[in-house]
Amino acid sequence: MKTFISFPEARDIVLKRLPGPREDQTDLDKALGQTLIRPIVAKDAIPPFDNSAMDGFAVRAQDVPAAGVRLPLAGEIPAGCADAPALAAGACLRIMTGAPLPKGADAVLPVEVAEIHAANQAVTFLQAATPGKHVRPAGQDIRRGDTALEAGKTLAPADLAVLAALGYARVPVAHAPSVSVVTTGNELVAPSEPLRPGAIRNANAPMLAAQIATAGGRVHGHFHARDARTDVRRALEAAREADMMVVSGGVSVGAYDIVKEVLEEMGLAMLFWRVRQRPGKPLAFGLLEDKPVFGLPGNPVSSAICFEAYVRPALARMLGRRQVLPRLEPAVLDKPIAKKEGLHQFVPGRAWRKGSLCAVAAAGPQGSHIVSSLARADGLIHLEESLGEAPAGLSVPFERFVSPRA
Ligand code: AMP
Ligand code: MG
Repeated sequence: MKTFISFPEARDIVLKRLPGPREDQTDLDKALGQTLIRPIVAKDAIPPFDNSAMDGFAVRAQDVPAAGVRLPLAGEIPAGCADAPALAAGACLRIMTGAPLPKGADAVLPVEVAEIHAANQAVTFLQAATPGKHVRPAGQDIRRGDTALEAGKTLAPADLAVLAALGYARVPVAHAPSVSVVTTGNELVAPSEPLRPGAIRNANAPMLAAQIATAGGRVHGHFHARDARTDVRRALEAAREADMMVVSGGVSVGAYDIVKEVLEEMGLAMLFWRVRQRPGKPLAFGLLEDKPVFGLPGNPVSSAICFEAYVRPALARMLGRRQVLPRLEPAVLDKPIAKKEGLHQFVPGRAWRKGSLCAVAAAGPQGSHIVSSLARADGLIHLEESLGEAPAGLSVPFERFVSPRA
């Protein structure tokens, strides 16, 4: 087991030791936000046939070389028409948007540039026709055999349109890893309970469940344990059915911090404990029968930040996402932040535009128990381990939190 390693080394260990993505099939209407596990290669062309881009008249362009030409109207082609008549030379056919272009036609003149003589079934065009004008050729959007969507994409509404257009009623997606949330602590009571002396409410359980959901995981269940071996063991045994376990509290050096010992009794291979970071120094990570287990320090800000730094990228990797690591934006510190050399600091920060720059500053008083600063933050300011100080004007990477609806 490694100990007191750097943040990049710790995150690398996590990402290298995870199980790969597993394939699931989902209904198209449940695919939003899921991760495509295979590329989608078009079996059909989109559009499947040449069709009209306008409500108007299908013509041969050579029949309407100039404005003022009058052609006899030979019929009508509605959208969905399967047996459109061919267009005879020197005639026109009324055509609707999306209707198949009839054989013989090579252009459409919109209804706005046509004068219809209903009585004698003829049309005068106020504009010349050009070949291909207002015609949507087959395959213009997607050609058969094209890769329409790349593997690893998180499916957005427009992707569902592409999948529908290509006939995917079922979609090959990555299995959403199930994740157990285990909270520990004699002092914790549920949010619905009154505070007895010495108690605080369990803030991490709902927060971690929400983080799991926004990271593409599925919460398997929440298990709470008192700081007693048998109770911790009971909770962890129930939790281990999931694909991943996220345990909060009990991983530090206090007399009641027994989570690591109990996990090791259960057969966990501990890969690291303690990282040169603030907050979240006591972070532990290991594998229990190849399933990743995170031991997050219990302070809510530490738990939240360790989730963002390690668990969210881990879920992205297990989902086969293309984007595994968070995107970092260049930003400029607007106010100094107290920095301890030798620790990577994650500071909940607010961000705003200042001229052409992104300015950032601590979102409030810092402390791993000050959850209100975290709630005010737009993201995390990263202050690298080697920095001895963080003065105003310093260029820093900023990691924006994902939207709650992501
Ligand atoms: P621990 O990591 O168990 O030593 O806990 C560190 C601090 O975080 C203590 O002050 C705990 O009371 C607090 N804490 C632990 N778990 C939670 C939780 N689920 N919700 C809120 N605070 C917690
Ligand atoms: Mg505790």
